[in-house]
Amino acid sequence: MREVVRPSGLTQHLEALQAAADANGGNRADATGGYEESAAYVEAQLRAAGYEPRRQEFSYGRRNPVDAFNILAETGSGSGSVLLLGAHLDSVEEGPGLNDNGSGVAAVLEVALRLAEEGAVPRERIRFAFWGGEEDGMHGSEHYVEELSRQEAAAHVAYLNVDVVGSPNAVAFVYDGDGSDSEEAGPEGSGTIEQVLRDILRTEGVEALPFGFIEDSDYDAFVKGGIPAGGLFTGDGGTKSEAEARTFGGQAGLQYDECYHRACDTIGNVDMAVLEQMTETLMSATVSLGGIEGGLAGRAATEGAG
Ligand SMILES: [Zn+2]
Repeated sequence: MREVVRPSGLTQHLEALQAAADANGGNRADATGGYEESAAYVEAQLRAAGYEPRRQEFSYGRRNPVDAFNILAETGSGSGSVLLLGAHLDSVEEGPGLNDNGSGVAAVLEVALRLAEEGAVPRERIRFAFWGGEEDGMHGSEHYVEELSRQEAAAHVAYLNVDVVGSPNAVAFVYDGDGSDSEEAGPEGSGTIEQVLRDILRTEGVEALPFGFIEDSDYDAFVKGGIPAGGLFTGDGGTKSEAEARTFGGQAGLQYDECYHRACDTIGNVDMAVLEQMTETLMSATVSLGGIEGGLAGRAATEGAG
């Protein structure tokens, strides 16, 4: 597949998120100026590409409720079925959160922008979610799933979670949809998502490792809601093993991201080559699972001929 992701686009998104943190006390946590500025950037980018983003508001916490919101946008065409891509937009209060999860935001946003630019017409409606409330307990994605009727939930062909995809000491993890390496598999259909992602990475010479659904990111509400789920992850607070270092390079005995949830999770903490590869993988998976006929390159050729 030809390369469709623009590294300069990814850099631009990360720079905007870093600036949002810098101008607002060094973080982009829920209900702060840093979150609002991050949201405004994502919305402006989506609008410029022809999307109509909307805010889905919710609040959480009983004693001191936090008012938060998700951003949702989608392709206008497609059937009643939905392919959903999601990344949490909030950071922890301790730092700017550029790998966690500016990297995932940049990846999902870039896929949205490139699909619009290529004029791709998918079989499925493709929806993009930028979640609030993740760092305090995945409240945004939980709210989204709670709001779905049974029929709407059943229309979701897949949820692809993108949380931490530019780790400086990375391993390529794919969520373990078929449960081959975990206590439990994801909902039916999750094994297919895992296979699609693994196959894409394999064509790039990367043998991804399975990572279990351990209730620590926005896939959780989907898994519990019976919606097929999967996604990409390059490691955060865990420690790289000797075997992983042999396969993926980097340093055994160190965390995948030594700046995980710390003030040093700045733009300089993101490995751009890793982020680019994960974004390409997400793009290919979106083309495949979203039913974009002939892929993006095929469409461009058809348009040229017509
Ligand atoms: Zn995260």
